[in-house]
This record gives sequence, structure tokens and C-alpha cells, in this order.
Amino acid sequence: MSAAERGEILRASLFHTPRNPFLDGQGLESHHDGGLLLRSGKIVACGDYGAIQAAHPNVPVGDLRGGFLLPGLIDTHMHFPQLSVLGGLGHELLDWLEHIALPEEARMADEAYAGQTAQGFVRALAEHGTTTALVFGAHFASATASLFEAATASGLRIVSGMVLSDRRLRPELHQSPEAAYGDSTSLIRRFHGQERLLYAVTPRFALSTSEAMLEVCQTLLRENPSVRFQTHLNENRREISEVARLFPWASDYLNVYERFELTGSRSVMAHNVHPSESELQRLAASGTSISHCPGSNAMLGSGIFPLRRHIAAGVKCALGTDVGAGTGFGMLKEGLQAYLVQRLAVNGTLLTPAHLLYLATRAGAVVLGMENEIGDFGPGKSADLVYLRPPQGSALAAVVAQAENMNRILAALFTLAGSESVREVRVEGAVVFRAPEA
Ligand SMILES: [Zn+2]
Repeated sequence: MSAAERGEILRASLFHTPRNPFLDGQGLESHHDGGLLLRSGKIVACGDYGAIQAAHPNVPVGDLRGGFLLPGLIDTHMHFPQLSVLGGLGHELLDWLEHIALPEEARMADEAYAGQTAQGFVRALAEHGTTTALVFGAHFASATASLFEAATASGLRIVSGMVLSDRRLRPELHQSPEAAYGDSTSLIRRFHGQERLLYAVTPRFALSTSEAMLEVCQTLLRENPSVRFQTHLNENRREISEVARLFPWASDYLNVYERFELTGSRSVMAHNVHPSESELQRLAASGTSISHCPGSNAMLGSGIFPLRRHIAAGVKCALGTDVGAGTGFGMLKEGLQAYLVQRLAVNGTLLTPAHLLYLATRAGAVVLGMENEIGDFGPGKSADLVYLRPPQGSALAAVVAQAENMNRILAALFTLAGSESVREVRVEGAVVFRAPEA
């Protein structure tokens, strides 16, 4: 019997949200002296260490006490070509795109540079404990392929696609609808469903896509029933009024995507900071998901996300860091930013540590249609996990040592745990990142 078949028990404090805490007050499950039994890349059991060990006495134990196991973090909105433009302060969306993001996006025409960026991008994901990400590729097929290749080598789960645009950006970022169709189709054939990769049809946003390009997206979704779809929606007021001007027949921003059948359960749209009630109702009815990116919304001054209205309407929401408009790769930090923004919002939602964990893990699995495979430690799920251990002498170590309960510890992890606390990350039980021993 191989080691993977015999399995192993990881012993540590652990947290997961097998149920949605926005619907169920008991969403969080935690075990102070926890045990996670893994076998052949799957989770077999999760519970108190004593019970797990007694039921499986011959399985070797990895003693990770002093640290914390969470399901692998799931980031539902980011742009790989924007790795090097993080931290561009002082702009709003359209001006940030023109002066900060798009010049760097244009550099992805250089295959060697794109390859190097893709490798840095997937390394940063793993170092931060993110095991699954929905990512905008580049405007170039070769650069998008280099992201898929770097993802394959990293072992992470990546859902991505070439970014499609045919107007209003820089000319070198535009492609014809015909070229967009051809390049997307060959990328889908090459990468979709390979290893841990999925393809997502990815128009940048309505503003940069003609009706002919949106028709190409519609055709790609029809021809490839299992690919996903991602774009941006209702991020910034100036963007919204420009979209209204460009699509005079549309009743609102969402209606542009609806016209081309781009909404639905495989669609994830980033931001939606300024939705109408009607848009929220239609998002919920069609099963379209929203990726909430609080850091990016604050960085670009886009506005305050109406989380309470999304929840009330029944719209599925998860979290995204929006690298590079956001503040970095940390999904725990992104959870904290969601908490902070909601704290200050008029009619905001008071988010608990359970809500934050759900948004950073299982909610992401739900919006990607992967909730039967990943997102929590339920039996049969893939063993995707992150092991956090506070560095010795850190503020986090001090808080954890005094914490009176598990909820308090989880709150401290969201507040204080950065990549320096990430010790090990696994996907399907295999290590994809291990921090050098301090
Ligand atoms: Zn974005």
C-alpha cells in the first residue's frame, strides 16, 4: 500500500464552513484539537483528533499542533498581467486602466515577459494559501497559454481565459471578433479540463466589446457547455454611464450581457457596486454570481458594495482580490477588508469570522460550480488546504495564545495572518507550497 493509499491524519486546530452562514447561523465548524484524515488526495474524515485517531489507529499522524488548517482559499477575481502594477494609488477606474493597467497589459505581447509574470503570479497565489483562482488571462493567446502552463506546473486550480476586447482600449490590445473566436477555441481545446484547469470566456467589460464581440462570447458558450464565463459589471459610475451611451437599447448594464445570453450559473461578474434592484433580482433569478472585491473598490474609489442588498435578493457572492487594482494576493486580508467596508457602510452587514471564512472558501467553490469538489473539509472533497502557523514572537502568536475561543482565533487569523503565516499549502493532498523552515 502506498503512503497516499494508507493516508495520513493531520492534527491541528481546524476551521471550515460546510454550510452557508448567511443562511444558517451554525455555518462554522471548528475543532480546537482537530484531525483531518486524508487518503489518495481526498478528505475522508474531519473532526476531533481523538475520535478520528481512535477510528483509524494505524494511520500515521502529522503533528501540526500550534497551527491552523483551513480549506484552500478561493479567489474569484484577479488579472494575472497586472502582477507588477499593484499599489497604483490615486486613480479611479478608467484613468487607472489607461495609465497603469493597460500599458502593462500591452507588455504581455512579449512572450518571455508574460511567462515570467505568469510564474510570479502563480507563485504568489500558492504563497498566500490560494489553491483555486478565477483569473483574467491576457489580451494575447500566447500570454494566456503561459498562465495555463505555469498553473499546470504549480499544481493549482486555475480557471482563466484570454481577455477579449475590440474597442476603446489601446489598439494593440484589440482583436477582431474572428481572431477572438479562433484563439479562444484553440485555447479551450488545449487547456479546458486538462489537469486542474478550466477555461472561462472573458470579455474585459461591455465598454471594450462591440456587439459582434459579445456575439462571439455567446457562440463560445454555446459550443462549449462546460466552460465558465467572467467579466466586470457596474464597477464605477462613469463606466456605467458610458455603457448606457454605447448600448442605447439596453435597459441597464446587466441587460447588455443578458442580450447575448452571458448570464447564468456559470457566469461570475466582478464588482456590481452600483446595481439597480431589478439587476439584483435578475442576477439572482439567472444564478449569476458576483465577485466582491472590497480592496479594489476602495483603492479605485469605486464605491461601497451593497452586500446586504445582494444577500436579500439571493445573489451568490464570493470574494476576489482583483490583483492588480486591489491590495495584493491575501484572501484573508480581503476578508478583513470586506469586514471593514461593511462596518463603515450605511446599512452595512456586520460580518462574523464565519462569514469571512465562507466568503473566502466555500462561496468561491459555489460560484465556480465546484462545491462538490472543494471549498470545505466534508468527506469526499479534495484535500485542498492551507496550514497557517503564527511566526514566533508575532502579534498574531500573542493574540492566539490568549484567545478564549475558536471564533476569536479565526478573527485574529483574518486580521493578522499574512503570507508569513502560511507554512504549507496542498491541492488534492499534494504539497504545492511549503515555507522554508524559519
Ligand atoms: Zn477586474
